[in-house]
Order: sequence, then C-alpha cells, then structure tokens
Amino acid sequence: MKSRARKKDETIDKLKQELLTRREQLLQSVRSQRQEIPERGLQGAAGDSSDHAAADYATELFGALLEKQAGNLEEVELALQKIESGQYGKCELCDKQITHKRLRAIAWARMCHDCQEKQDRISAERRSSVNASSWRTNQ
Ligand SMILES: [Zn+2]
Repeated sequence: MKSRARKKDETIDKLKQELLTRREQLLQSVRSQRQEIPERGLQGAAGDSSDHAAADYATELFGALLEKQAGNLEEVELALQKIESGQYGKCELCDKQITHKRLRAIAWARMCHDCQEKQDRISAERRSSVNASSWRTNQ
C-alpha cells in the first residue's frame, strides 16, 4: 500500500517537473513575441492604408499565436494548481482517473481520452459552423 502511494507520487512529481518546464518555455516565448508585435498596426490610422492592412494582419497573426500559447499556459497553470490541491489526473467531465499513459503524453490533460474526443468533436462542429457563418457575412 505504502510503496504503491510512493510510486504514484513519483509519477506526479515527474509530471510536475514537466509542467514547470513547459510553463517556463511558454512564458519565455509569450514574452519575447509580445515584444515583436508591430506597433504600427495599433497607431497606423494616419499611414498608407495598404501598409496599415499589412501591419494589422501581422498583429492579428501574432495575436492568434499568442492567444494559443496563452491558452496553453493557462492549462499548464491549472494542472499545477490541481497537483497542489490533489485533484490532478481526474477527468473534469466524468471524474474518472485519466490514464498515466495519457498524462505522460499530455501532462496538462483535463479530460480522459473519451471525453476529450467528445469535446473535440463538439468544438470542431462549432468551429465549422462559425466559419460557415463568417463566410456568409463576408460575401
Ligand atoms: Zn472523462
């Protein structure tokens, strides 16, 4: 019983280290990219309009990348909080234990494989319906 508990702690310790490393990487990358965002897009009302559009596009591109990394950073933070509170490794939807295999692959996983698949399907459907409606407004 005792050795079993220790083994589990070791796994979580390892995952925690991984999460901390990942958090550091994300923080650095978000920080350095934030400095690279072109500021012309934010100021550019007086400038040439095509120039302005290009800068806007770049800002948007950087913004999307940042958003993705910031989102990932949040997941990593959340996982670290869960380790502290002892909730780590539990599926948020069905409360089942997430397999160690899955946690080793994605240390910040919030759902078990089954629930993640379901969620992915739902958000893919949502995305495609959003794309379809923005496509319609652009026409
Ligand atoms: Zn689940």
